[in-house]
Amino acid sequence: MKSSDLYCTETAVSTNINHTTKRSTIRETMYKRIVVKFGTSVLTSGSPQLDHPHMVDLVRQCAEQYQQGRDVVVCTSGAIAVGRHRLGFPNIPNTVNNKQMLAAVGQSRLMQMWERYFEIYGIHVGQILLTRFDVNHRSRYLNARDTLRKLLEFRIVPVINENDAVAVEEIKVGDNDNLSALVSTLAGADLLILLTDQKGLYTADPRSNPDAQLISEVQTIDDDLKALAGGSVSGLGIGGMATKLQAADIARRAGADVVIADGHEPNIIERVCRGESVGTLFPRIEQPVDNHKKWILAGSKPTGRITVDAGAVKALCENGRSLLPAGITQVVGSFQRGDTIYIQDQSGKELAKGIARYSSDAMTQIVGIQSDDIESHLGYAYGPVAVHRNDMILI
Ligand code: GLU
Repeated sequence: MKSSDLYCTETAVSTNINHTTKRSTIRETMYKRIVVKFGTSVLTSGSPQLDHPHMVDLVRQCAEQYQQGRDVVVCTSGAIAVGRHRLGFPNIPNTVNNKQMLAAVGQSRLMQMWERYFEIYGIHVGQILLTRFDVNHRSRYLNARDTLRKLLEFRIVPVINENDAVAVEEIKVGDNDNLSALVSTLAGADLLILLTDQKGLYTADPRSNPDAQLISEVQTIDDDLKALAGGSVSGLGIGGMATKLQAADIARRAGADVVIADGHEPNIIERVCRGESVGTLFPRIEQPVDNHKKWILAGSKPTGRITVDAGAVKALCENGRSLLPAGITQVVGSFQRGDTIYIQDQSGKELAKGIARYSSDAMTQIVGIQSDDIESHLGYAYGPVAVHRNDMILI
């Protein structure tokens, strides 16, 4: 994993850091439902194959939480790496089809291992393989949510991965950090643990900067933090710190505490659940969004974007208003009425995600006009707003 993906500079986060070692915000005794995301580097210990003794220990830790009455959801990476190992590291190009083939081979092997190790504790597991396609429409999102919650009702540990064998770029979630945030939202989890090969988020690169400090707690995921977390590519998995921040941002708004921690620290899952100050905590937002907005936040993938003027930015961001056609200056991309779109300011900064009340064709025709004139422009009207405030979530 690139070191630059794993730290940010001290200046950018100084207002964001809680330097105390005791976590006042964590609600350790209250966790009822936890999602644990295991990065490829955690399951392989950085080698090209599964580290079975370590995986057994991770399952033991999950089982311990399960036995204490908590619902446990596993979000696993590693399918492609395991497939590559199973086939003896074939010398093949990194094409989509080849990776799909490796994932198909690796996923079944990976699942066998989760099943075998949970069986030691008499715990049943159930596999769910998701893509963005499975949650992009509200009805499918609700179906996926029902399946997941039914497994939990029957005290089964869901083991979830992206359906890499069939997923192509357009329908992918893309990385398991964001997948785990989606899963956390679907499950109604109150804790998401992102286990990785780093102790958490640092103020600088700990490998080159001896003054680098582990950030114990992040209250605000602001633009500086996002910019400094940078892009992501690790040796075996996909996610880096940027995708972890995205995941944390989604899951905490949906009502879960999020902790990034090192999957190789002893008893890490139990320690996080107990509220020990390990890793980096992103405390949940106290008033999480309602179910409809959770889907907009985590499930839907925007298909287009509209640019708005300064007056609309103020109306949306400061006054909590709906977006009217009068505030729109540009429509980009093709979308239908009911699709999710991004709303951005003149500089291209994303402000909100919301559901379009008009298609992109219609929206283009009503750019900048007063709502009373919509009908005369289009010959019909679905009401005065382009995106209603109830269908919108600020970013
Ligand atoms: N779904 C991928 C796999 O199982 C991992 C994606 C990720 O690491 O973010 O290989």
